[in-house]
Amino acid sequence: MKEIILIKNGEIALKGLNRSNFEDLLIKNLKWRLKPVGSFIIRKAQSTIYCEPADDSIDLDDAIDRVGRVFGIAAFSRALAVEKDFSVIAAAAPDYLEDTLRAAKTFKVEARRSDKRFPMTSPEICRELGGVLLSRFPHLKVNVEEPDVVVYAEIREREAYLHAGKIRGAGGIPIGSSGRAALLVSGGIDSPVAGYMMAKRGLELIGIHFVSPPYTSDRALQKVVTLMEKMSRYCGRMKLFVVPFTKIQEEIRDRCPEDLFTIIMRRIMMKIADKIAKDNDCAALITGESVGQVASQTVGALACTDVATRMPVFRPVIGMDKEEIIRIAREIDTFETSILPYEDCCTVFTPKHPRTKPKLHFVEEAENLLDCEALMAEAVAGVDIIEIRPQ
Ligand code: ATP
Ligand code: MG
Repeated sequence: MKEIILIKNGEIALKGLNRSNFEDLLIKNLKWRLKPVGSFIIRKAQSTIYCEPADDSIDLDDAIDRVGRVFGIAAFSRALAVEKDFSVIAAAAPDYLEDTLRAAKTFKVEARRSDKRFPMTSPEICRELGGVLLSRFPHLKVNVEEPDVVVYAEIREREAYLHAGKIRGAGGIPIGSSGRAALLVSGGIDSPVAGYMMAKRGLELIGIHFVSPPYTSDRALQKVVTLMEKMSRYCGRMKLFVVPFTKIQEEIRDRCPEDLFTIIMRRIMMKIADKIAKDNDCAALITGESVGQVASQTVGALACTDVATRMPVFRPVIGMDKEEIIRIAREIDTFETSILPYEDCCTVFTPKHPRTKPKLHFVEEAENLLDCEALMAEAVAGVDIIEIRPQ
């Protein structure tokens, strides 16, 4: 028995002349993602990508799980590949589809015949195969309008394929097709979701995380690594840049007005992220900010943070409620890790009364009390890089 994965790509189909590049990128990404499962032969023909295990020892459940997280795939099917001979198809179908059909009350067969040399027409295949399945599973009834199960028989160029419908894919467009961006990632709920959303739009990610030892612990950093490992099941391989931030935070605490502490810290984070992003071919920054969530995320505070960099800053969760963000965090399995209670550098030295409507010129004046350039250069020189690989 040979099973294969048939992939129909979603939005890619709309990309006109770029389509071939998108498909090639998708195939490259698929190869990477499936590598830990084993060797696959992957080819494309007529808007379908065929993903075929190269040997029998491959765990197809694992492969299916991985394919379901690759961006650029709208839907896919797990199918049985058989010889293009109706008697072979009719003999294989009942066993292959047994579990699905036993659980159903109604069904129909849909046949597609792209190989017109096949001696039966599509309606003939439907009728004959329907008859075979009815005699094997007498509890079933045919319902062409709203069947519980649709059995597909696809007679294609090389082989015939049998399956019981499509599985929804991760959607989006292939990672890398929109270039690369840097995600400011904290240990919270929002930034992993923000990264996931932008990766879905084709951005390859690097992560940037600020740490303030001894105020923040190793466990807090490990939590961010775990979050990125979870994200990497969708976002692929990523580098995490860990920036030492203690000295900068202490300097702000010692020299700047307390009510501007958070806003100055956020602006310096943006400036350092800007440097690291440019050095690593990133065209944009991504944050998990959402209007009104905390004092540093009022429109006024965001305006002050925004002008700290000339790079575009993507904030995909900007208009979302916490509940909506949490729903996605649960879906991508980052939520439980995000709520572990370790200190983030944003929560050390937080002012009692942060300014919610900061005036940019006051902020800049206060910032000038610091030797920003030297402090930032020192932080960038102390960066540690961690390789995040999909598990
Ligand atoms: P999150 O849930 O993502 O932590 P939050 O609601 O806690 O967000 P803040 O702590 O104000 O909000 O952070 C806003 C954004 O700033 C985060 O989404 C993230 O992009 C960035 N950020 C915060 N802390 C860090 C950090 N230690 N390192 C890197 N980026 C950070
Ligand atoms: Mg946070």
